[in-house]
Amino acid sequence: MTRTESAPFTTVTALPGASPIKYVYDFAEGNRDLADLLGGKGAGLAEMSGLGFPVPPGFTITTEACRYYLRHGADPDELAGEIAAHLNRLETHMGRGLGQSDDPLLLSVRSGARYSMPGMMETVLDIGITDRSVQGLAAQVGSEEFAFDSYRRLLQMFGRTVLGINERLFADVLDAAHARSGANLSGADLREVVLAFKQIVLDETGREFPQEPREQLQMAIRAVFESWHTERATLYRRREGISDDLGTAVNVMAMVFGNAGAGSGTGVAFTRNPASGQTGLYGDYLPDAQGEDVVSGTRNALPISELKVLDPSVYDQLLHYTDVLEHHYRDLCDIEFTVERGKLWMLQTRVGKRTPAAAFRIACQLVDEQVIDLDEALRRVSGHDLAHLMFPQFKPGPGSVRLTTGVNASPGAAVGTVVFDSATAVRRAAAGEDVILVRRETTPDDLSGIVAAVGILTTRGGKTAHAAVVARGMGKPCVCGAEELIVEENPSRLRAGETLIEEGQEISIDGTTGAVYLGRVAVEPPPVVDYFEGRLDPAATDVDDVVLSVHRLVVHADSRRRLGVRANADTGPDAARARRYGAEGVGLCRTEHMFLGERRTFVERLVLANSKAEQNSVLAELLPLQRADFVDIFTAMDEATVTVRLLDPPLHEFLPDRTTLAVRVALARAAGEVDEYDVQLLAALDRLREVNPMLGLRGVRLGFAIPGLFAMQTRAVAEAALEVRRLGMHVRAEIMVPLVATVAELEITRRELVGVIAEVAAAAGERLELPIGTMIELPRAALTAHEIANSADFFSLGTNDLTQTTWGFSRDDVESAFFPEYLRAGVLDSSPFETLDRVGVGRLIRIAVDEGKQEHPLLQIGVCGEHGGDPDSIHFFHDVGIDYVSCSPFRIPVARLEAGRAALSTASASDSR
Ligand code: PEP
Ligand code: MG
Repeated sequence: MTRTESAPFTTVTALPGASPIKYVYDFAEGNRDLADLLGGKGAGLAEMSGLGFPVPPGFTITTEACRYYLRHGADPDELAGEIAAHLNRLETHMGRGLGQSDDPLLLSVRSGARYSMPGMMETVLDIGITDRSVQGLAAQVGSEEFAFDSYRRLLQMFGRTVLGINERLFADVLDAAHARSGANLSGADLREVVLAFKQIVLDETGREFPQEPREQLQMAIRAVFESWHTERATLYRRREGISDDLGTAVNVMAMVFGNAGAGSGTGVAFTRNPASGQTGLYGDYLPDAQGEDVVSGTRNALPISELKVLDPSVYDQLLHYTDVLEHHYRDLCDIEFTVERGKLWMLQTRVGKRTPAAAFRIACQLVDEQVIDLDEALRRVSGHDLAHLMFPQFKPGPGSVRLTTGVNASPGAAVGTVVFDSATAVRRAAAGEDVILVRRETTPDDLSGIVAAVGILTTRGGKTAHAAVVARGMGKPCVCGAEELIVEENPSRLRAGETLIEEGQEISIDGTTGAVYLGRVAVEPPPVVDYFEGRLDPAATDVDDVVLSVHRLVVHADSRRRLGVRANADTGPDAARARRYGAEGVGLCRTEHMFLGERRTFVERLVLANSKAEQNSVLAELLPLQRADFVDIFTAMDEATVTVRLLDPPLHEFLPDRTTLAVRVALARAAGEVDEYDVQLLAALDRLREVNPMLGLRGVRLGFAIPGLFAMQTRAVAEAALEVRRLGMHVRAEIMVPLVATVAELEITRRELVGVIAEVAAAAGERLELPIGTMIELPRAALTAHEIANSADFFSLGTNDLTQTTWGFSRDDVESAFFPEYLRAGVLDSSPFETLDRVGVGRLIRIAVDEGKQEHPLLQIGVCGEHGGDPDSIHFFHDVGIDYVSCSPFRIPVARLEAGRAALSTASASDSR
């Protein structure tokens, strides 16, 4: 049977009645630059057609047509005519009519959005089979089994996707047929299955399965349009940050058959290993199978290398085409292909998704192969990738019980409780539990469970199975095809030989090695962390390729970035770690952590003090302790700047819980043993009680409420600076005043601090300069930055409080209270506490930066809120002219990398202008 011919489909010239907006493109008309319009798949097909690859002829209906349909609930007027014209041309080219009664042309109808959404939208194959054409197909192929199997596939896919019929109804009929006749159904069996399937359609929809092929086509196209809005597709987009407005293209293509018996098959391949980055063709091949059989994971595929044995000539062609594609796209590509009786057909290509480790490795390989330069390599990795490589990994000990080893489908270590369905995964995860979703195989409907889980384990399917593809895209650990394990139903449990694992029991899965363990396995730092800690030398010969690639790209990022990177560190060891990770200073040393633990009693005594003299004596006791804290940090940072922030949080954070204390006092009273200290403390707690502590007595306001507190802290900084200087080090300390709203607060505080510094310097007979700056973390401070800049040596943007006060969102409550609902409803794309809200908070930041620098051109401006370590926010900070970001030590490498990438994107934006 020759389903299609290899001659390229001739280019379309103006079609009769073509509209000004063109909704349909022949594969021969498009190219990869039209991905917005043709979707990723359509653009890839067009590009492969242009390269002269064997692509089955067809056409793409644009995303614009989909958007029109979704907006108006109807096709654009011109669409039917354009599709008809393209279909006629396709029929002429093929020499066969769609669904004609002898030798029918059959079509596949596939979704294809701008950004890949694997398995999330619909596909319908075998369009064109009817009661009449199935006979012609059987006669043409000489196989009734093949023809009726194709018909039942059409009924099943069309029934589920287009008509919305419960899949189970079809599956039950098929299961019953297999139970009667065994694994291989005869033509007669399949005829009966087809009859039963048609009856299901009639019963469920009240009408016959459409016998007009063009109607089938039209209905399938609309179903694909509508699948843009299914729950799983919407959830996937939200999760991946893909806009809901893009719509999908629809690709209509002449069918080729991988299920045409011996010499046929279907496969998925990557030009390099997308999990590890190792070079060489990589993928799965399933002989005598059609389209979705590989990705659904319902049948376990062979490694692609087996194709070399089965059909060396096809394998060589595949190698040739994948080689051309890699050079053409200058990146790892993935492809789908079908072999129909020894003839290779390329069905899809795109730049492939990969794991974080593979992203770094491949980027550097391509530099070494002189395909791209280091700047381009840096663009191809991300801070999110690097953060993943810094997650801990398993360290199995002698007591670890390994249940089995499956396919290492998506790397990383996950420990969690077993759940067997997505609904339970979502419910338990919402209650704060780490869950591992265990399934025989996953379907696209499992997306919510995959999102909720910390890891995924399946007993069927290979690395290209749906679960693996989706997990890799999300960077979640996944072990697939653990065939020794059995997922039992009623009751749901996992059987590993004699061991039975019930829902709620803990397991550990290692997506890097494929190992599955019973219970909790200990974790250890991964090699990338060893490298940043200085325990691994990148110049050593045996160093891991991924570590070396990270080293090369982070060093390159350093050479490109304009943004400085500092750390939020409160202790000497933290500061030392930050330094090892590449921090250029401490951008935020929160002194409140120095008042916790045993030192809480000092705060208690401060609030209980009855006189100024009593307060002063408490502060005097605190002074040497604070000084020692700062000596530690200044020593760890030596030359680098350390910004010490004066005490910020509401005092109740250091005091005992009121209820506990009240109970203690009441019990003591009842026992006639009144403790006067407790009584007074309770009275103080009542006096200090606030309805909104985060908007109350905190930050600079504490300096006014507890005279001498900030002076003591400043004295400790100044004396520590001199002490460390005497040890031969060069201290660059700065003092930062928190939560300033008006320049008056800063001016008054500053006057006091300047006096203290001068006093310390005079007493020591030395010169001492300690810049005094402020946090900008209230909208009023941002809006009056032009005034505040006159009294500040530097600004540091406290984006945590700035987000809290701009949105009126309590930073301690809202993320668990109602953000899940806001995210689900699409009010928010992400938490503004994680990724900076560029529009609102960002506008205040622009004002603060622009007006601050206008008033005081040398004013240094940093960011020390959590956003300072967030990859997406860092690009914004670069763009608005921030001087440095400051973040927790573990995020320093991520910030260095992203700051370098941000500099590149500015460079390319100005290059292209
Ligand atoms: C901030 O508000 O962004 C900040 C860094 O200060 P803190 O988180 O300590 O309030
Ligand atoms: Mg703050």
